[in-house]
Amino acid sequence: MTTPKKPLAAVIGAPIAHSKSPILHGTWLTRYNIGGYYVPLHVEPDDLAQVLTAMPKMGFKGANITIPHKEAALALADHVTDRARRIGAANTLVFAADGSIQADNTDGIGFIENLKSGAPGFDFQGITAVVLGAGGAARAILVALMDEGVGQILLANRTRSRAEGLAQEFGASIRVIDWDDVPQTLCQAQLLVNTTSLGMTGKPPLDLDLTALPASALVTDLVYAPLETPLLVAARAKGCRTVDGLGMLLHQAAPGFEAWFGIKPQVDDDLRNAVLA
Ligand code: NAP
Repeated sequence: MTTPKKPLAAVIGAPIAHSKSPILHGTWLTRYNIGGYYVPLHVEPDDLAQVLTAMPKMGFKGANITIPHKEAALALADHVTDRARRIGAANTLVFAADGSIQADNTDGIGFIENLKSGAPGFDFQGITAVVLGAGGAARAILVALMDEGVGQILLANRTRSRAEGLAQEFGASIRVIDWDDVPQTLCQAQLLVNTTSLGMTGKPPLDLDLTALPASALVTDLVYAPLETPLLVAARAKGCRTVDGLGMLLHQAAPGFEAWFGIKPQVDDDLRNAVLA
């Protein structure tokens, strides 16, 4: 008689030592008393395909994928969810019993779930959102906002051509505005999202004049190190509701955990505190 294998999952990236995912999933594994493991794997780009082929044979149920493998993992998958295809990157892989790979991207739903729990009752339908940034994270945010029924997205990026590329790809609800015109455009914002890396520890601050921003607007920052970015501090001083970026990281992890370990995990303060510790 053989003993059933303990379920395994991983986060794959290069570098990977900084990842908070092992603490996050480890907290859930302990909480739900699951005899499985979640490990960080440093994998170089040239080795990714070979590693993903071998993992199911080793007992891995799936993996999170991070920089620099998100696009390559999507290309290597046998099945791709609609949202991952539209975002153009995978952050969650599930291995089927035959070793085939299903790729998903949960960053967008992590973002939305974070706003729904951090700002209960906020209604996305028909609103105008101002989104700053046109990098990898912005793609997931734009797809998620459109799927939630946002009416108009005003998109600004330091390199305007990148924002124009996204507007062309994603359609008419996105209008590109000049980076320098953001302050006067804020009077239209019901939601303001920073998806740039500005404000992150070690990066320049996001220096934005919020005078025109209505106090009724919701403001969120994808940057979560520091947790209290200058943008969030300034927005709260204006009376705006704010939601920090850590919850997005926690919520994007939940679908993978459920698929690999069979339990829908809860995002709560204990989990936040474990990841922050
Ligand atoms: P990325 O692809 O490298 O994009 C970086 C973005 O920041 C680009 O729009 C870039 O503009 C802009 N930027 C960088 N330096 C700038 C500067 N000095 N002035 C103006 N704009 C500047 O990075 P990403 O993957 O999208 O990640 C962006 C941020 O989101 C990071 O801080 C990341 O940690 C965070 N994030 C958080 C979560 C979460 O779960 N909370 C998830 C994903 C990402 P250009 O196009 O002009 O270079």
